Amino acid sequence: MEQMFYELPPLPYDYKDLEPYISEEQLKIHHDKHHQAYVDGANALLKKFDARDSEFDIKAVAKELSFHVGGFILHKLFWENMGPAEKCGGEPTGTIADYIKKDFGSFERFKKEFTQAAVGVEGSGWAALTLCRRTNRIFIMQIEKHNVNVIPGFRIMMVLDVWEHAYYLDYQNRRPEFVDAFWNLVNWDEVNRRAETWLSSPL
Ligand code: MN
Repeated sequence: MEQMFYELPPLPYDYKDLEPYISEEQLKIHHDKHHQAYVDGANALLKKFDARDSEFDIKAVAKELSFHVGGFILHKLFWENMGPAEKCGGEPTGTIADYIKKDFGSFERFKKEFTQAAVGVEGSGWAALTLCRRTNRIFIMQIEKHNVNVIPGFRIMMVLDVWEHAYYLDYQNRRPEFVDAFWNLVNWDEVNRRAETWLSSPL
């Protein structure tokens, strides 16, 4: 079978489309440089797996693999759960709105907790909204780096990147302002699409 490698996915919108909340310059460097670095890192590791030479250390490469592939996947999810503010943001409707009402009581409560999770990530990481099929509940989680605290079986509905590289050009050290801005860019249609796809797939 043919060997395949990771590729940088194009953004589903133009670099300037998330302005004024994320600048063209910020988005371009984040996508073209940082996301690309995880693609390159993951592919370099795949080559190590292919070669399996005398230097091959499974413990080291397994850890790096989860970091780089985690970074690759999370960025793809992140770009796709955002969109231009004219079409995105505000309060959700549909499936995810029903879960938020059931598990959090209100959108305001959910927004407050997700914001706290994002602002409170120690160092580099992500806030994630996940859906557990076994308990039919949604959970807010923090992901450290790209791979720590990830729970297999919890599918990601929405992520927010709070590594400094995601916001430093626009907001310097003011992460709470960036998290606040994110709410204007959430593509709830995509979040609903993920929830419905996950709910209709076999366990
Ligand atoms: Mn990032």
